[in-house]
Amino acid sequence: MIDFCVLGTGISGSTIANLLSKKYSIQIIDKAKGIGGRASNKKIGKSISFDHGLQYYSAKDIKFRRQLNYLIKKKILKFWEGNHIDFTFKNSLNSQKIIGVKGNNDFNKYLIKNIKKNLGQQIINIKYKKAYWEITSEDRKFKSKCIIITFPYDQTKKIAKNYLNKSFLNLKVKMKPNITLLLKQVSKSKIPINSLRLDKRIISWIANENSKKRFSSNNFFWTIQTNENYSQKIINKYKKKKTYYSKQIIKDFSNILGLSNTDLKVIKIHGWKYSYNSKNSGKKCYWDKKLKIGICGDWFIGAKAESAWQSAHNLFSQIKKNPPKIRRV
Ligand SMILES: Cc1cc2nc3c(=O)[nH]c(=O)nc-3n(C[C@H](O)[C@H](O)[C@H](O)COP(=O)(O)OP(=O)(O)OC[C@H]3O[C@@H](n4cnc5c(N)ncnc54)[C@H](O)[C@@H]3O)c2cc1C
Repeated sequence: MIDFCVLGTGISGSTIANLLSKKYSIQIIDKAKGIGGRASNKKIGKSISFDHGLQYYSAKDIKFRRQLNYLIKKKILKFWEGNHIDFTFKNSLNSQKIIGVKGNNDFNKYLIKNIKKNLGQQIINIKYKKAYWEITSEDRKFKSKCIIITFPYDQTKKIAKNYLNKSFLNLKVKMKPNITLLLKQVSKSKIPINSLRLDKRIISWIANENSKKRFSSNNFFWTIQTNENYSQKIINKYKKKKTYYSKQIIKDFSNILGLSNTDLKVIKIHGWKYSYNSKNSGKKCYWDKKLKIGICGDWFIGAKAESAWQSAHNLFSQIKKNPPKIRRV
């Protein structure tokens, strides 16, 4: 039987799986068919792709900066250079933006490249059976001596509430939604921006996917995110009126960039229900040595990939300090 089953291939799941794999046997499970969670990359046809979640990596923490530099050297990540405009004036103009060479989930793919993966498996139940955990997906069961959950807070609570202590269950975590629109611009008018951050509009962020230099095309591809209030307003109803809300967002987009609405075709509108946590939880991770259950995720610490990575490293230190009683491979 496997030592650790890690649920989730996001940055925190990939990071903890990678760290634990140096000592233990690991398998990783995700409900999605692709790797990356909120850092996933959506392919359209053979070459066109959109980073429809995480837009770029940045580092405040020196250790995370080192990790990014290492992956840049290995040609897994690269700098996203060019014309980035910030009309909120909240971010440093010099802040570096780092992206995957092929997609922003390159980071995750690299970390778990040698780990057994079970994708497309939505976990619906977990049960502690003393000697092991029984993990049930919609179509099969997995067994593992220890379990690590890396879902957003609400989803973690839902699946594991019988096994978690009160202080975890009472954490004040509020994850906010985000609406993302993927667009194709069929006209040939080239707009010389890589990204645009905006204030006081429906749209808060625009990314030019062509500017990442991963593909060449005569058309232009845009990833657009809406602001917090707008996202909150429509997150529970956009699925029933996708055309209506897409048109609203496109109207704002074409006004900003001076494009005609008829030049723009919707590839996808996607709602992230648990996009980011606006407040620090006050904890960094969760580890119960007795029940052999661990939890990590960005939302413990902040709202970024860096927070996910830090939470996974904190969990790894906890497991190292208080190792579970299992036979090592
Ligand atoms: C639109 C958007 C833009 C962002 N932009 C940036 C940015 O520019 N820079 C930045 O640093 N951060 C950004 N972030 C935040 C960043 O994406 C996250 O901080 C980070 O990816 C979180 O990683 P994680 O592993 O903690 O969680 P997740 O990536 O959410 O991983 C959880 C995983 O669990 C899986 N899962 C959930 N439930 C189940 C289940 N029942 N069964 C099986 N699997 C399940 C999910 O599929 C997912 O893969 C953005 C996020 C969003 C949504």
